Amino acid sequence: MNVVHIREFQEMMKHLYFNRDSERGVKGTYDWLGDELRELGEALEEKGEEAVEEEFADVMAWLASLANISGIDLEKATVNKYSGKCPKCQRSPCQCTF
Ligand SMILES: [Zn+2]
Repeated sequence: MNVVHIREFQEMMKHLYFNRDSERGVKGTYDWLGDELRELGEALEEKGEEAVEEEFADVMAWLASLANISGIDLEKATVNKYSGKCPKCQRSPCQCTF
């Protein structure tokens, strides 16, 4: 299996779905992401590993779609915020209190 970086995954999703995602818009795409998150929650509670894996994939896909039409570079955003240490306590592993 090839290594795919977050940016490459997002670019692939852009190639596949940007036109459709743009037509649907941010609100509609956000709502879809919400549906996929609910499905992931259901899969985690009652379904097998294969179903859980698929739902994680759907959540990642819809998150990338939403980022594309919002003009957000997910790799830049995540690495800027989570650069090897917890953004709150600045430690690794995180030592924040619950
Ligand atoms: Zn922390």
